[in-house]
Amino acid sequence: MNYQKRFVVEPGAKVRLGKINPAFEDKHDSKDKATLKLQKHVERLAKAQYLLYADANKSLLVVLQALDAGGKDGVVRHVFNAMNPQGTSVFSFKQPSKFEAAHDFLWRAHRRTPGKGEVVIFNRSHYEDVLVVRVHKLVPKAVWSKRYELINDFEKILSENGTRILKFYLHISPDEQLERFEQRLDDPLRHWKISDADYSERKLWPAYIEAYEDAMERTSTEDAPWYVIPSNHKWFRNLAISEILADALEDMELKLPPTQVDIAEIRRKYHAAAARRGHKPPKA
Ligand code: AMP
Ligand code: MG
Repeated sequence: MNYQKRFVVEPGAKVRLGKINPAFEDKHDSKDKATLKLQKHVERLAKAQYLLYADANKSLLVVLQALDAGGKDGVVRHVFNAMNPQGTSVFSFKQPSKFEAAHDFLWRAHRRTPGKGEVVIFNRSHYEDVLVVRVHKLVPKAVWSKRYELINDFEKILSENGTRILKFYLHISPDEQLERFEQRLDDPLRHWKISDADYSERKLWPAYIEAYEDAMERTSTEDAPWYVIPSNHKWFRNLAISEILADALEDMELKLPPTQVDIAEIRRKYHAAAARRGHKPPKA
């Protein structure tokens, strides 16, 4: 199945998250086969990133959004782990600092966008300014309602400059969230992830869903599409995202830059140097 086609939010289409099964896992012969597929996609991603870096003409911006415990950190760990840290970075967007809040809402995002040849992952993003900000009424509606167009313009600037933008909403059910909260409680290694706000935010679930639906409807474009990824099953989430990313990167027609030297001439220099070191001459 082509996951990019299956999960993309077509520009202008309505989004009804209630109609999308968060536990969808497609048909796979076995879990082992699915894991093998994920490994293949992750290898494809590593190769494509090498080319992106070498090509140094285009860039990739990945936006990860989800409700708490939706799995953003897990995607970073399992899907991007084969990418070279040279040329890849992750930025986590928290509550804006005083300094950040003193600027327009896109300022802190724009500073973090990828340069040519780079991959940047946004763990949360400028979309928080039409999600948490809208749900908690941190600014008046007259302010946040204008932001969808501003976001589209912003993303247009990036894409005109050679940045491929892919945006993922990790779709989980309230029951799955509760189960993950329980796992966090049971595992002292994960206690640091628990926040007081987890349960108050959970009560606002319907408002968040509405805000997500609106955001995706208004900002899924040809150049910067949204994907709704069924994410109750972590392995399926990783498989789908890695496939969509690998397909997208391979579509970017990345190529190695032309060789800047005369390879035959350099080869002669190498053989001369090797001979001086007493190395055997190459077989003809
Ligand atoms: P976490 O991702 O669990 O570390 O939490 C980060 C918190 O920062 C979340 O509760 C976000 O909703 C919040 N956050 C991120 N961006 C903004 C923003 N622009 N305004 C207000 N809160 C934000
Ligand atoms: Mg959190």
